[in-house]
Amino acid sequence: MDRINVTRALLPDLNEYTEEIRDLWDSHWITNMGKKHDELQEMLENFLEVEHVDLCCNGHLALENVLESMNLPSGSEIITTPFTFASTIHAIIRKGFKPVFCDIKADDFTIDSSKIESLINGNTSAILPVHVYGNVCDVDNIGAVAKKHGLKVIYDAAHAFGVKYKGQGVARAGDASVISFHATKVFNTIEGGAVCFSNKELASGLFELKNFGIRGEDDVASVGGNAKMNEFCAAMGICNLRHIEDEISKRKKVFERYISDLSGVEEIKINGYGPDIVPNYSYFPVLFKNRDAVFEKLAGNGIYARKYFYPIASEYECYKDLFASERTPVALDISRQVLTLPIYGDLALDDVDRICGIIIREVKRKDYLSGL
Ligand SMILES: *Cc1c(COP(=O)(O)O)cnc(C)c1O
Repeated sequence: MDRINVTRALLPDLNEYTEEIRDLWDSHWITNMGKKHDELQEMLENFLEVEHVDLCCNGHLALENVLESMNLPSGSEIITTPFTFASTIHAIIRKGFKPVFCDIKADDFTIDSSKIESLINGNTSAILPVHVYGNVCDVDNIGAVAKKHGLKVIYDAAHAFGVKYKGQGVARAGDASVISFHATKVFNTIEGGAVCFSNKELASGLFELKNFGIRGEDDVASVGGNAKMNEFCAAMGICNLRHIEDEISKRKKVFERYISDLSGVEEIKINGYGPDIVPNYSYFPVLFKNRDAVFEKLAGNGIYARKYFYPIASEYECYKDLFASERTPVALDISRQVLTLPIYGDLALDDVDRICGIIIREVKRKDYLSGL
């Protein structure tokens, strides 16, 4: 039986892609903000319903660059959660800031906005919440707390491509939102990412940060790096964007099949999406009392679910001496129970049934909980 991974990169028809990159052979312009770059940027501004999109070579550097572009005091504290991909926390630390971990909510795994205010002090400069799994943070509460204390809000929206909240594109929230277009995400440009923002004043700073600080032909104005998206990646994005709505509706069918197969199984906890969200079905997280047993059983059957996000960042080898994981007990607890099951548009519904059958047999096994 073929291996089933947690996701599978969305690819257009090969002919569609070769047609899209034909122009590049004609012009020999293959990077440095060419036509494909500008075309994709504009398409995404429309699709995501945001004023400005700044394309980057990946989501991580988009995150680092937006942190740098906000002129936050060096060494200041940024409130975030440890229940995220390594990139979020590494970006904060690599830019010289100090992450302060806030706990998450058990119902959607996003930052518990009621706990943010107690973590704010004179050194706090920003809040960096994560729309984890495409669940939407309490953007209204977070915005109110930030306003009261004069803090910037930068969303790690890596998982939230195309998600709508209260009828609007979620990337509109905060001072900026960063999306990832990595191969494993709902929408990909092979590698890629973007900063979404509405304040035009951020535009030139972000542009310089991704292009060596170059402002004009003879003018290097600032100490920028290189985070440009090349034309081949932009062309992949243009092709994939044509099919994204189809992909998301196919994911929805997979999601609904999981729900119907697993609902009523009391050993399993699934949260689903909140009422104000139009989701992108990017992940299918499930909580198990004995997560590792289910993980092993699936792997033994060629099904590779992932323990996203285990361990939490405060338990990483590189951070464990700096943070106390007991301060975020909900995040710690969820990380030990969570497993994200395979989900992508072309996952066959028969495979979903088979995956669920294996899971149900495992959790109903007499000694399922005995090794804990
Ligand atoms: C994928 C991801 C990133 C980083 O994006 P890349 O495009 O892989 O650099 C950042 N944060 C989260 C939560 C992610 O899942």
